[in-house]
Amino acid sequence: MSARFIECLDVGKTYQGRNGAVEALRGVSLSCAEGEFVCLLGLSGCGKSTLLQMIAGLETPSTGQIIVAGRELDGPSPATSIVFQDHGLFPWMSVQANVEFNMKARGVARAERRARAAEMLDLTGLAGFAARYPHELSGGMRQRVGIARALTTRPRALLMDEPFGALDAQTRGHLQRELLDIWARQRTTVLFVTHSIDEAVFLADRILVFTPRPGQLAAVVGVDLPRPRDPRSEGFAALSRQLRGMLGTEGGAE
Ligand code: ADP
Repeated sequence: MSARFIECLDVGKTYQGRNGAVEALRGVSLSCAEGEFVCLLGLSGCGKSTLLQMIAGLETPSTGQIIVAGRELDGPSPATSIVFQDHGLFPWMSVQANVEFNMKARGVARAERRARAAEMLDLTGLAGFAARYPHELSGGMRQRVGIARALTTRPRALLMDEPFGALDAQTRGHLQRELLDIWARQRTTVLFVTHSIDEAVFLADRILVFTPRPGQLAAVVGVDLPRPRDPRSEGFAALSRQLRGMLGTEGGAE
């Protein structure tokens, strides 16, 4: 178990656009231990997705260094797997083909693909849906397919970019509990981007709070409430209030 499984050292990112430069992130240093569940929390536009994309090796930092599993990144690392907000499924492929896609891209043999896909479909409650197509599934089920696909390559860390942001409150709560269950069983590290304070308090071991753009690390908050967490408990409410104060959203909206 590495205490610095994912490490960012003084990471910054400036996008060059048609209307000039946009500084999305500045001077971010953080680390995430293996097995930890860490939430990146901040208002929309503060650069959380940008940071996750860089940790996934899909974007390059303008300054600083990112180290995953002991190696400085020069592209996507086999140790990580990303889950997108819009699930990123191919509409013309069945659930089975979508779940096998990442393994196929990495050259995993067919029999092994079948076996791992079946295991992950089972784990995510999708056994029996392998022959369906994405448009035949609910939003929650599509997101589960995205999680199953990400897990098939046996990543040591799951990188999740507001994966439940577009779901209704009930489905979201359901998937949050399922994700914690998967995390506990698979012992994967999870780095989870959200702008929802309640989601971060429900899920995380540690919450990294970001300032508005350019995103900088404002605070690191440990969550030692016992799981399963009760959003109606005093401890939950107190921590949520503290985080609202940090984000400057005392007025109500997250
Ligand atoms: P968050 O995930 O916190 O909502 P993002 O990382 O998506 O924030 O975006 C941070 C800032 O960077 C925003 O102002 C956004 O418009 C800008 N940005 C993100 N991606 C790009 C891009 N590919 N090109 C130019 N600007 C971008």
